[in-house]
Amino acid sequence: MNPKVLISEEEIRSRVSELGAMISRDFAGRELTVVGVLNGSFMFMADLVRAIDLPLRCDFLGLSSYGSATESSGVVALTKDLSGPIEGRDILVVEDIVDTGLTLAYLQENLSTRHPRSVNVAALLSKPDRRKVEVSVDYLGFTIEDRFVVGYGLDFDGFFRNLPYIGLME
Ligand code: IMP
Repeated sequence: MNPKVLISEEEIRSRVSELGAMISRDFAGRELTVVGVLNGSFMFMADLVRAIDLPLRCDFLGLSSYGSATESSGVVALTKDLSGPIEGRDILVVEDIVDTGLTLAYLQENLSTRHPRSVNVAALLSKPDRRKVEVSVDYLGFTIEDRFVVGYGLDFDGFFRNLPYIGLME
């Protein structure tokens, strides 16, 4: 049985196009380097970049803070690095979900040592009740309650990433 729909395909589509329009407006006249955080952001990233009307490059970082359970270990590991330097560039980090905030805090710290011109963050989902460190998200899709969700790139034990909607894992 498939997980119950929390956020439908249609709701995602319309929110992603709003975010793309905001980003296009905010960075008008500039070039972006969009950095997707693997694995969970791949679907959001694919849709978001198509909604951004700017000259942009795409790159990816691999980070993991989860084993196969639904609780964060708190330990963030870099599993894949960017393919090139980002010095002087405007970076847009694309995250699937901000939960404790530990992953994003690590990432912001890590990227800042490479001297980009700016770092902004787009996240599809945020669970503010779970936050352990304060992080700021510039372009947020949806705020959700403290529930474990899957689909649209998000997994449970590696599965469900291919669902076209955000579903509740009960
Ligand atoms: P944080 O470091 O606790 O903010 O965790 C961020 C990462 O944990 C996300 O990028 C996801 O990969 C994973 N994660 C957190 N909550 C969920 C969820 O509800 N479903 C699937 N993955 C999640």
